[in-house]
Amino acid sequence: MSRNDQLFERASRTIPGGVNSPVRAFRSVGGTPRFIQRAHGPYVWDADDTRYIDYVGSWGPAILGHAHPEIVRVVQEAAVHGLSFGAPTEGEIEIAEVIAARLPSIEKVRLVSSGTEATMSAIRLARGHTGRNKIIKFEGCYHGHADSLLVKAGSGMLTFGNPTSSGVPEEFIRHTLVLNYNDLASVEAAFATHGDDIACIIVEPIAGNMNLVKPAAGFLEGLRTLCTRHGALLIFDEVMTGFRVGPQGVQGLTGITPDLTTLAKVIGGGMPVGAFGGRADIMDNVAPLGGVYQAGTLSGNPVAVAAGLATLELLAKPGFYEFLSRQSATLANGLTERARAAGVSFCADHVGGMFGLYFRDAVPTTLDEAADSDIETFKRFFHAMLDKGVYLAPSAFEAGFVSAAHDDAVIQETLDAAEQVFAQLKG
Ligand code: PMP
Repeated sequence: MSRNDQLFERASRTIPGGVNSPVRAFRSVGGTPRFIQRAHGPYVWDADDTRYIDYVGSWGPAILGHAHPEIVRVVQEAAVHGLSFGAPTEGEIEIAEVIAARLPSIEKVRLVSSGTEATMSAIRLARGHTGRNKIIKFEGCYHGHADSLLVKAGSGMLTFGNPTSSGVPEEFIRHTLVLNYNDLASVEAAFATHGDDIACIIVEPIAGNMNLVKPAAGFLEGLRTLCTRHGALLIFDEVMTGFRVGPQGVQGLTGITPDLTTLAKVIGGGMPVGAFGGRADIMDNVAPLGGVYQAGTLSGNPVAVAAGLATLELLAKPGFYEFLSRQSATLANGLTERARAAGVSFCADHVGGMFGLYFRDAVPTTLDEAADSDIETFKRFFHAMLDKGVYLAPSAFEAGFVSAAHDDAVIQETLDAAEQVFAQLKG
């Protein structure tokens, strides 16, 4: 029995499903999850000391590669001065200033400890600010696990075919209008019927939780126009895309200004940090200035903030995103070429340091298209790549991530492995 097997058996006795977040369990792909003992640069090592090229990157944060020496240094330095104070620090001001300077839509920002807290708080704020109840979200988008957002969600919920969580009261679900991503007409119709009671639209401006699905031309612009017209707030959930697809997230790529933005993952550099921010007149509704309550014992944690600040500083180096985009493009195009040469129905897409792999002939533009992939072939691909030392997301519905440590040799090693695997799949 491998050590991974032993650990999984042991974990399953005291942890539900043996994991602390569902997709980690490998349930949809089968097999034993790899228990990670250490990571460095583009690699992770499992409990059996097998090395993998990692394209999960902690689901997004590891944009500099794992255990980047500068991040480790600032974390160690911060830890020496105390792990948590529950009082304001200068570091919190610095990271707020950096975020506000980089994302012009953000005038004020509040730190939290996860993406879930960021979206949950942003929704509460939107409701408090507008005095309205309903929210619009899109099927297949995942915004963390707050009650009103666990309706027809993506990520693990889509992976396991159970997209609406049990335990969420019917009364909550009634206030969440779920529409189709990239279908502006359905949004217009929702505003025509419920316009007076819609507090906000929350959207992944590039979706990464139903595989990678990009917004259709005019979709985000349309959401902006409709929100403005009807007095609803537009929330860009950039927890995944923020500082990942480019220096200013999707708002920078598109020039569209949301009222509120949620961030997490990259801004914590691997430590638990999330944030929600936006227009000052909206943010000033948050306690202690306003009546929308939001708080956190560990919010703005000094060690996490140090990791986040150092990460954001390194991302500002000239050429950073050009390099990241080039590596993603080489990977996505290289995989597509090799699959086509082997006669496997496959395509790939990418943006900044994010990519999608699809076992179908065309890049999907909707959830239905993303779901209409050859999942069985994906599973075989996943396991065959794992056997060759490449660790991909254990789900056909998650985006993949490239880091600055994924140099040409690492990408080439991945493509060489894939070439053999595609031939195997066809054979
Ligand atoms: N929003 C988006 C777009 C996400 O991708 C995620 C996590 N994958 C979340 C929110 C929730 O973040 P967290 O897991 O940190 O709670």
